[in-house]
Amino acid sequence: MWLSWESVRLLKPEKVKQDLVSGKHELIIVGAGPAGAMAAYWAASRGVDVTILDRAPVKRAKPCAGGLSTKALALLPFSVADIVERSTSHIIVGLGNNTGVALTAEGIICGFVVREDFDRHLLNHALKAGARLRRIEELRGLTLDPEQVQLEINGGEVLSTQYVIAADGANSRMRRLAVPHGAFSRGFALEGTISRSKLSFAPGMELNFGCPRLGYGWVFPKADHVNVGLYTSQETVRLSKDMLRDFASSKLGTDQVESIVGFPLGFGGASYRQTEERLLFAGDAAGMVEPLLGEGIYNAIRSGELAGLAVANALRQQRPARESYNASMRPLRRDLRRGEWVSKLFYRYLEEIGFKVLQNRVISAGLIRGYAAGRTFHQIIDRFALMPWQKPLQSDRIKELDSRDDSGCLPD
Ligand SMILES: Cc1cc2nc3c(=O)[nH]c(=O)nc-3n(C[C@H](O)[C@H](O)[C@H](O)COP(=O)(O)OP(=O)(O)OC[C@H]3O[C@@H](n4cnc5c(N)ncnc54)[C@H](O)[C@@H]3O)c2cc1C
Repeated sequence: MWLSWESVRLLKPEKVKQDLVSGKHELIIVGAGPAGAMAAYWAASRGVDVTILDRAPVKRAKPCAGGLSTKALALLPFSVADIVERSTSHIIVGLGNNTGVALTAEGIICGFVVREDFDRHLLNHALKAGARLRRIEELRGLTLDPEQVQLEINGGEVLSTQYVIAADGANSRMRRLAVPHGAFSRGFALEGTISRSKLSFAPGMELNFGCPRLGYGWVFPKADHVNVGLYTSQETVRLSKDMLRDFASSKLGTDQVESIVGFPLGFGGASYRQTEERLLFAGDAAGMVEPLLGEGIYNAIRSGELAGLAVANALRQQRPARESYNASMRPLRRDLRRGEWVSKLFYRYLEEIGFKVLQNRVISAGLIRGYAAGRTFHQIIDRFALMPWQKPLQSDRIKELDSRDDSGCLPD
């Protein structure tokens, strides 16, 4: 039995079951996270026969703080008003555990979701557009031919397809199968939740740079809880649960952090080039996380969309997928390249230069305006002189969240 989109929306996640499929496919997408779901949505919307494979679709909670930047929100082709729990136009940035400067934009800079809800929402839209979902136990093998791709799954079953989009995240099995000796560059983050009932005040969005090393600690407000976490741009920096509890204690006055989980973030997308015609990578599997802030959802959604459309074009108009995907990904790669060197300089000289730059009123005002305007990192830096004239983004996705501003307040 295939899942209909209604069933995914209505059933409890654990009730969702998938069935076997055989025969030849047009497009198989491995991974039902934001990259895979959006690739499926766009390809299925163009009439492509799409099958999504996931180890644990629906019933899973991807470790993630669930912060959606303005540009990520604006990219979504359907409403997310029902699942964005909070949004904000304010942020406090600090150095170490110290509270630093409060920055305010005229519009929304971030919306906050619970990742499980967000992923299910995107997946529902992909299924509604016509994609199918199948749960698999294991991905065992990959064979690339000029005319087709074969995926070996579970106990040796082979699926044949014209195209594959690999969107299976930072630990990508597909990438290891395709590039067995390829180096993976990754960051790491640890997150947990604190119930609002344990807090004596309502915190707003906060980032504390340098805590931990080569990264930052965060506080993100949600409806009934607050998400706290630690991010490092170097996987070799060790993060521990105790470090997270200490951070929570210093920021929120309690170390009662629940459900602490960690996961890597996929880097290196600046140099990612599509080399195979029939196998495309998207999201963290393609190294699409921006290393300064560890933001990955925007590029996952965007690269998924571009990969889905590249395959749809290749199937319908015979334009090679590799060619159109490489061309359309150019702005993302350029943005990541900029993010890589800014991130290196920022964290290396954090106390001497990086944080001082952030404290500069003109620079911080330009940055916050750029974020509210939905600009990418590259666009903000390139057009910095024009930032005083940037207006907050007014797309449908942003307007529907305007009333949910939760700026929070500082502890007494
Ligand atoms: C703790 C933490 C906090 C973060 N916070 C933010 C944030 O606030 N904002 C932001 O923009 N980014 C954040 N990120 C980054 C963001 O979570 C990722 O960039 C984003 O999830 C990437 O989406 P994706 O679809 O590429 O991969 P994923 O979301 O990882 O999805 C991959 C999918 O593939 C499936 N899969 C994996 N392996 C297999 C396999 N072998 N076979 C079949 N299926 C498989 C998984 O089940 C999953 O459904 C955070 C990351 C971490 C670790």
